[in-house]
Amino acid sequence: KASGRSTFSFYDASLDERLETRRQLTRDLREAIGSGTQLSLNYQALWGPDGKTLTGYEALLRWNHPERGPVPPSEFIPLAEDTGLIGPLGRWVLRTACAQATTWPDNLAVAVNLSAAQFRHDDLAELVAKTLDDTGLPASRLEIEITESLLMSNTEQVLGTLRALSTMGVSIAMDDFGTGYSSLAYLWRFPFDKVKIDRAFTQHLGSDEKVNLIVKSIISLAHSLEIRVNAEGVETEPQLQALRAQGCDEFQGFLLARPQPVEQLTHASIADATDAIAELLEGLNLPGEAAPAPMAEAR
Ligand code: C2E
Ligand code: MG
Ligand code: MG
Ligand code: MG
Repeated sequence: KASGRSTFSFYDASLDERLETRRQLTRDLREAIGSGTQLSLNYQALWGPDGKTLTGYEALLRWNHPERGPVPPSEFIPLAEDTGLIGPLGRWVLRTACAQATTWPDNLAVAVNLSAAQFRHDDLAELVAKTLDDTGLPASRLEIEITESLLMSNTEQVLGTLRALSTMGVSIAMDDFGTGYSSLAYLWRFPFDKVKIDRAFTQHLGSDEKVNLIVKSIISLAHSLEIRVNAEGVETEPQLQALRAQGCDEFQGFLLARPQPVEQLTHASIADATDAIAELLEGLNLPGEAAPAPMAEAR
């Protein structure tokens, strides 16, 4: 398992067992999609260039399994991709995120992760257009996040879909930038509005001079192409300050907010009045995932 889903040994005695677990989990996921009650979206705040102004949220899918409890997306999304369940699952995510975003202040965007496998199952431009129409969310408030793995296959079809989305007014972000093949040609060929610097880089900012230089170069390259830059996984105040100094446009991470259930969102910016800050800090502590970020209270 730890060695990745494409690796297995014929001589591994537990293979049957693992296949059975996988089959069971697939059945359970199909049921979860059917009933809808075990699935939910958590939202992680996105912050503007000052690091204090709320600009939107990224939708992050959660599955609360009746017996196993929370199953991490890193486990069930690959399963959904392999079994074709990503089709209905992804449609549920898109529809739910767009519908929920219509209840927020209308300056706030919602970012939805799309998997490469969804591009094979659905005409995504058509699906997005219909979802926006049904929910009433303006295209300008929707952002889709894709990873580089998508761009490596089916280039012409994917390019057509992304162009159609872009023409509709939907923003397109490249997620986890810098960790995959990061072909710079992708930035040239595809209509990206934003790149999200992977938290693998953010983590080492300030402590590794090479990382500082790489991040600086990514920001400078993106800006010269008129692409905005988000930094993922901001966990400390020094990381935030370093990124702000380099002109990063958007911040996301446990320092600023953890992913939260939709009912817990206050839509308050850190720059708002003191009572809003108090409210927000309360929101950061409860019922956030695991412990609150220690630096959050110092802000
Ligand atoms: P991602 O799109 O890169 O999302 C960011 C992940 O980093 C989230 O993990 C988030 O909880 C985590 N994160 C955010 N800030 C910090 C931080 O400061 N420190 C650390 N250590 N982690 C942070 P999560 O929710 O477990 O999601 C993992 C991945 O699963 C996502 O990575 C995305 O690729 C995928 N995923 C989640 N929801 C969906 C979905 O609805 N559809 C698809 N296709 N993929 C999804
Ligand atoms: Mg993402
Ligand atoms: Mg990411
Ligand atoms: Mg990531």
